[in-house]
Amino acid sequence: MLRAEAAIDLDAIRDNVARLRESAPSAALMAVVKADGYGHGLLPSARAALAGGATWLGVCVLEEALALRAAGLRVPLLCWIAVPGEPLHDAVAADVDLSVSSGWGLEETVAAAQSAGRPARIHLKVDTGLSRGGATPEDWPDLVAAAAKAEASGEVSVVGVWSHFAYADDPGHPAIAAQVATFRAAMALAEHEGLHPQVRHLANSAATLTLPEAHFDLVRPGIAIYGLSPVPRVSTYGLRPAMTLRARVALTKEVPAGSGVSYGHRYVTSERSRLALVPLGYADGVPRSATNVAEVWLAGRRRTISGSVCMDQFVVDVGADPVSAGDEVVLFGPGDRGEPTAYDWANALDTISYEIVARVGGRVPRTYTGTR
Ligand SMILES: *Cc1c(COP(=O)(O)O)cnc(C)c1O
Repeated sequence: MLRAEAAIDLDAIRDNVARLRESAPSAALMAVVKADGYGHGLLPSARAALAGGATWLGVCVLEEALALRAAGLRVPLLCWIAVPGEPLHDAVAADVDLSVSSGWGLEETVAAAQSAGRPARIHLKVDTGLSRGGATPEDWPDLVAAAAKAEASGEVSVVGVWSHFAYADDPGHPAIAAQVATFRAAMALAEHEGLHPQVRHLANSAATLTLPEAHFDLVRPGIAIYGLSPVPRVSTYGLRPAMTLRARVALTKEVPAGSGVSYGHRYVTSERSRLALVPLGYADGVPRSATNVAEVWLAGRRRTISGSVCMDQFVVDVGADPVSAGDEVVLFGPGDRGEPTAYDWANALDTISYEIVARVGGRVPRTYTGTR
């Protein structure tokens, strides 16, 4: 490591996928690698997940899907968000499965299939209660009928029917059972209309780990493959966090008691202290709200960030402790050495671990250990 890095343990990703497969032995596993593999790197994460037994990949946007294909990954691959006018032709030509939630989505997919000269592989998405993507139960019959027609004329192949949970991270919440019931009804209607999708899928990480009745043919874990529990207050489920975010101290100095630190002097030293400058800031994904709140591991113990997190740097008051330029600072990691974890950061900042890892900026080099 020179200045800073997000060190990614690829063996952890591989092993987490194998662990998730044990939780859902009857289903295939789609590793969700959207958002640059939740900040861990798209291609290395995808390869590590495949090594662990994933047989599908899932991404949000077309650029991510095409990048996986350009790198030579040939496994089934679902992409789930597009707006009107996107080059769906490229997706069909690259054998990328597309999610369809609406009439315009089906029309543009059919047009893409015609121009590509091959049927488009689609997954019809039903909104079972999240009120985000998917066709409402009210619009579902029309969408299914139109898709059945397009399949009969050879323009699409309906490979999947799917949906997404609102409350999977709250096991036992009544919305979960209601969504499963709505999903079953939507599948029954699709079958009645003559569709026989190869994969029915509903489970994210939380449902993969806690809700066997939602596994169906395929599970779609994301956060858990990176080793972060989707239900941290219940269990870590034997997962191992794959990312360690760390840096080297760029400068240390002694300042008198009463010194205001960083923008706005939101921290003031209470005694003569040594300050350590850490070269990571909010442009690197360290939220500004971590000011005076989040902890880092430095010189053998946890210490709170002192004063405002800046764009490129923050300061830590290390008191009288011997810290020098070049010393390692760990923001978060698996916790083995006592360093904070991404959960600790999420708790301190009133967010979820997903946001902590996914926001690590593009300026932070990713380094990899483990089998590539
Ligand atoms: C992000 C996402 C997932 C994975 O969710 P996790 O909670 O990270 O497991 C699965 N399905 C869809 C549609 C998603 O957007």
